[in-house]
Amino acid sequence: MEFAIGVDIGGTKIQFAAVNREGAIMERQLMLTEALLGPQQLVDKVLAGIEGMISNLTPGGRIAGIGIGSAGQIDFRTGSVAFAGETLPGWTGTPIKRLVEERFHIPAYVDNDVNVIAVAEKVFGAGREFESFVVIALGTGLGGAIVESGQLVRGAFGGAGELGHVSVDFNGPRCPSCGNYGCIELYASGTGIARLGAESLSAGATAAWKPNSREIIEAWLQGEPLAGDVMDRVIRALGSAVAGFIHTFNPEAVIIGGGVSETGPVFLDALNEAVQARTSAAMSKACRLLPAYVGTDAGVIGAAAQVWHYGNNR
Ligand SMILES: [Zn+2]
Repeated sequence: MEFAIGVDIGGTKIQFAAVNREGAIMERQLMLTEALLGPQQLVDKVLAGIEGMISNLTPGGRIAGIGIGSAGQIDFRTGSVAFAGETLPGWTGTPIKRLVEERFHIPAYVDNDVNVIAVAEKVFGAGREFESFVVIALGTGLGGAIVESGQLVRGAFGGAGELGHVSVDFNGPRCPSCGNYGCIELYASGTGIARLGAESLSAGATAAWKPNSREIIEAWLQGEPLAGDVMDRVIRALGSAVAGFIHTFNPEAVIIGGGVSETGPVFLDALNEAVQARTSAAMSKACRLLPAYVGTDAGVIGAAAQVWHYGNNR
């Protein structure tokens, strides 16, 4: 049987999996990124994890390739890291594709972590029936990917789709990642929700309670009014950004994934209402807002799927 090895490199954890052509995970391993230990230990971990996947492979299994998705901006022509911010300190410039191919003599494909989620959704998930869609991943940060005419939109080197750094308020706070003001990532990501929560509580709070995004969302779902105000801001900000993406790309669908979106239909329905109110009728009618289908394994499955679909320099 033919396998691809998928590697999903995030700020907190690295996922490894042996994936078959149908997108099923046959074998998996998880490591902590420990990003602060620096890029060399990260390279060592990635190589060790791939080594482990190869040696655990069932006899008769053939490895078609190694697919990697990494946080940061990836130069899709060379498979190296064009820019990685605070999430992976020192990772900028790492020639991931070359290091992996030199070690294993197996073709390697490297792309941005949200681009590979878009690959998973296109091949196996919510994007299967669409040629034109936008993916938004609401995690610790806010990531994006754009598929147009069935292909990932790359831009000059592969940096296209950094949707988290579209501003929804030029008077907003300064974004530490890009330098702009009021980036949507500052409102509608895990850290953004926690920031708004701390801001709204600081006025009346007696205890030094700093709720995280999960706690705020839970309180919102239970009808707690302060959390309701926070989530109202989050949803209006995100609705405004998504309306902008719809007007820019005229997509058939906007697919929402990541931890924050796993809140379920309440979040998606509220977002849909905010988007509808801000989008011109014909565009809005042509576009569906859908939850990601592949779920938390989308990154590692999409990373592996690059070996057969959409991979760089194939
Ligand atoms: Zn920014």
